[in-house]
Amino acid sequence: MSGETVVTRFAPSPTGRLHLGHAVSAIRAHDFARERGGRFVLRIEDIDGTRSRPEFVAGILEDLAWLGLRWDALAFQSERLATYEAALDRLKARGLVYPCFCTRAEIAASASAPQGDVGPAYPGTCRGLSAAEIASRTGACCWRLDMPKALAETGALTWHDAAAGWIVADPLAQGDVVLARKDAPASYHLAVTLDDAAQGVTDVVRGVDLFAATDVHRVLQALLELPVPSYHHHPLVVDAAGRRLAKRDGALSLAEMRAGGEDGATLAARLRRGIGSRFPGEDLS
Ligand code: GLU
Repeated sequence: MSGETVVTRFAPSPTGRLHLGHAVSAIRAHDFARERGGRFVLRIEDIDGTRSRPEFVAGILEDLAWLGLRWDALAFQSERLATYEAALDRLKARGLVYPCFCTRAEIAASASAPQGDVGPAYPGTCRGLSAAEIASRTGACCWRLDMPKALAETGALTWHDAAAGWIVADPLAQGDVVLARKDAPASYHLAVTLDDAAQGVTDVVRGVDLFAATDVHRVLQALLELPVPSYHHHPLVVDAAGRRLAKRDGALSLAEMRAGGEDGATLAARLRRGIGSRFPGEDLS
């Protein structure tokens, strides 16, 4: 033990109501900190101005309190835009990011696009634009990390996952990821990496669906000289058929369960028992 205070976080995006999958993730992060005398941060990832809504922020606070979870700090990404912009400026000054004018449709239409774990990797169309070409463009642009160039600076990178062990990062598989969006001043990748460092997060407890994203976060940590947390990617909650719970498949929100008479503390206890089982989804029915 290093004596360092353990800090975990739960970082929902307020774009809808929380469901059981969120509850399990929040309980895991919360309990990890509590069991070690640490701190639990609730971070609202509300940089997506078109999809984030205040009523969903209120819903998150209400649902977590209903489950009996208490947080030691409440942070909002929308209050940290200047920090994200400053980090992007540093990367711009080092020539590690470039503006990209491609539309979603153009990227999807690129037959050569390799499939990354989190969607098609960007084919690099705008990577070689000259200063004159950039100046002649009028449309909105996003900013992408020049991944090959970034890796030439960082060299090989590793990170540790509690279940999977030491991982050699393969960020090239994610391609030139977006760091600042056309419609938002920072992407998920940039904001999350900066926030975990700023909030002193020592242990990132989150779903295994974000496993590959950690390779990207590791690159940003190296480029921006940020500390590297330990990672604890946990299995996702699945239904009886083994499918990930999703709203579109009729998964009940916590608010609907509460309205149906469910007790939050009882549900949290049931979920904690499930977390201890081999297949976390199996006794949730
Ligand atoms: N905001 C992300 C989500 O809702 C989670 C971010 C993270 O845990 O790194 O999926």
